[in-house]
Order: sequence, then C-alpha cells, then structure tokens
Amino acid sequence: MSVCTSRKIIYYSEQDAKEALIRLHVKYQNSSTRTFYTCDQCGYFHLTSSGEIDDALKEAQQTKKIDQLSEADYWIRKLH
Ligand SMILES: [Zn+2]
Repeated sequence: MSVCTSRKIIYYSEQDAKEALIRLHVKYQNSSTRTFYTCDQCGYFHLTSSGEIDDALKEAQQTKKIDQLSEADYWIRKLH
C-alpha cells in the first residue's frame, strides 16, 4: 500500500473516493468533509473539507440517502 506525504488516506479511484465520502457522512452526519481531490504528491485521491461539496454527496443529502443509509447502518449494528 502506498503512503502519501500528506498522511491522508489514499483512494485509488474517483469512485472509491466518492464512496468513502458518502460512507463518512453516513457514519458522521456532521462531518465537515466535502469532497475529494487529486493529490499532487501521490497522484491519487484524498478527501478534503475545503472546496465545493461533491455532487454525489449533495445528491445523497438531498434525496435523504444519507439518512436512509445511516438508519440501515444502525440496524445492522443492532442486529450483530
Ligand atoms: Zn497524496
């Protein structure tokens, strides 16, 4: 696994970064992480709390997908 000098978690594809971003918001609804960016150091993707909110995240928030997922998450935790 590669390590970046930024010490942030590396995502190898845009899709991975996007999924991680949504998952983070499912877990921490008040997360300040907004989007992801391509890193100059490692050439992969990292999440960041600055910049414009990612469209996929915005959509997930607007369509209450985050709420639904966190509810599902709650039941999964409760049942296991
Ligand atoms: Zn990097």
